[in-house]
Amino acid sequence: MEFDYNKLLEKASGVLSTKTKNESRLKIPEPDVIYEGKATIIRNFLDITEMMNRDPDDVIKYLTKEFGIGAVLSGPRLIINRKVSEDDIQSKINDYMATYVICYECKSPDTEIQKVGRTYLLVCKACGAQHPIRSNREIIENNNGIEVGKEYTVTIDSVGSAGEGIARYQGYTIYVPKAKKGERAKVIIRKIKKNVAIAELVKNE
Ligand SMILES: [Zn+2]
Repeated sequence: MEFDYNKLLEKASGVLSTKTKNESRLKIPEPDVIYEGKATIIRNFLDITEMMNRDPDDVIKYLTKEFGIGAVLSGPRLIINRKVSEDDIQSKINDYMATYVICYECKSPDTEIQKVGRTYLLVCKACGAQHPIRSNREIIENNNGIEVGKEYTVTIDSVGSAGEGIARYQGYTIYVPKAKKGERAKVIIRKIKKNVAIAELVKNE
């Protein structure tokens, strides 16, 4: 292979780091929690759901079920009818995000939920991945990473500036010279830097 993997990797990670900067605008604010009497109030609840781009009612339903207690919206604030620690609130919101908001592949929060037949899909606007929503208890980090020298089967879903195929896999953006858009390809990882990898095309299926 005459490909200069190092050069390609440098270029690819440069492109990606600018992209990551833009995505950080989508950072979900931390819940701003205060207590009034026996109630817990999340003062910026609507900001949070707005940043998630999810219906506040859906998030309230989730929290109500998880905490086993009623909650009502009052202006931008969510009032929960008992004391709940900030940590518990943050962790439930994180769970919600992990299930219903964060792309399972590229981890972008820029997603939407689409109903297809009886299935709800988490559709990512950043990488195009589509996955059925996981059930709550299924939130597992099955992202074990990828390794140099190992083979993976990936889907090439876009094309880079030098014509190389690009696949998203397990949170990585994998550049595959000679691979074509739309194909399933068996690749060997040659280089990894952070969440960018360069792979060699072994075989297209
Ligand atoms: Zn994604």
